[in-house]
Amino acid sequence: MRAISHRIVAGILGIVLSCTCGEAQNRCDSVAELSKVASELRGLPFNSAVNCVELPPAEFDAAFRARINPQIDLPKLQAEGRVYKLLGFVPSELDYSNCILESYFSETEAFFREDWNDFILRRGTAIHAPTAVHELVHALQNQHFHLKQAANVRAESSDALLAKFALIEGDATEIERRVGGGKALSDLSNGDANEDEVQPAACQLPEQLDQLLAFPYEAGERFVRTIWEAGGVSAVNRAFADFPTTTAEVLHPEWYLKGRAQDRFLLPNPKKTQPPLFSDRMGEFFIRTYLELFLPARQAVQVAEKWQDDQLALELLPENRYRVQWRTLWESEAAAKSFKGALLELLAGRFHFPALNNAAATCQVEAESVGVLHVSQAGSQVTIQITR
Ligand SMILES: [Zn+2]
Repeated sequence: MRAISHRIVAGILGIVLSCTCGEAQNRCDSVAELSKVASELRGLPFNSAVNCVELPPAEFDAAFRARINPQIDLPKLQAEGRVYKLLGFVPSELDYSNCILESYFSETEAFFREDWNDFILRRGTAIHAPTAVHELVHALQNQHFHLKQAANVRAESSDALLAKFALIEGDATEIERRVGGGKALSDLSNGDANEDEVQPAACQLPEQLDQLLAFPYEAGERFVRTIWEAGGVSAVNRAFADFPTTTAEVLHPEWYLKGRAQDRFLLPNPKKTQPPLFSDRMGEFFIRTYLELFLPARQAVQVAEKWQDDQLALELLPENRYRVQWRTLWESEAAAKSFKGALLELLAGRFHFPALNNAAATCQVEAESVGVLHVSQAGSQVTIQITR
């Protein structure tokens, strides 16, 4: 089973994890031993020992909420859900923000608290050695690279955040993998079933959201491994002072190594009008995941990897209607046309309207399912506008 709760919480908010569980015992004794393992594998010393604290469930939950709440930006989360629905990325009936938040709070069993250098365990649950090592790598990252300053969850685009978390989580996941399934180490679990198992989230996140949330772990691990192979552990350490800025750099570490970020074409800034309700840059990985909803994975990958830049803005209109405008920039006119064709196919499929002709520079559809849709291409730019 995929450790989705771990991914959700850690992927979006940083340095938190969950595990599966056994009977209470002093599992903190093992943390000193596992700290040595983490330090050796990661090639960094602990500047100070991590405090391990085991809390009863109610206190644990309170501490966890206190850790997470300041980072939750509910209006942003709601706007993001609105955008995903307008684009047909998630079903319109999904209670997006509540479902995401519920996932944070329902399945977490341990987390690392940067400000206090604390490793907090939920009493009555078990945590496996590789997972503990993963968290201890976050403690090392925090001591050496000051994680808290690294990512501003509120200010950065989702593309930039996914890229930053890919380095942070990819590094910890790569070390976790090297622990070797925990077989050589004493588990922090005694293996017993427990009565106090943390409840899984009641609402099921769609697969495409699961994929976005798993990105920092899966693509991040590949990214870190490539950087490590190319320049050793010092190259990984240096990356924490020069984070990848887009999911494109994480998906193509060779571009990151060549400093491709500087070569990318960028869209000009939008004309100064009223600031939108919400704005974002979605990036290559989102576009790939979006296209995969309706197209073969291979085609989605090939289209998305020609991405250069995008800007998305959400506006609130009278009568409680919303408009999303999404400008995208591609490597070439041909790449833009491929994206436009793939997008039209996807939108027709998701919103059940007849296929549109990709040869036309501008396409427009009005239907109850989608609202008013405009897709237009000018050179290497494609702009999508949906009002509903
Ligand atoms: Zn993590």
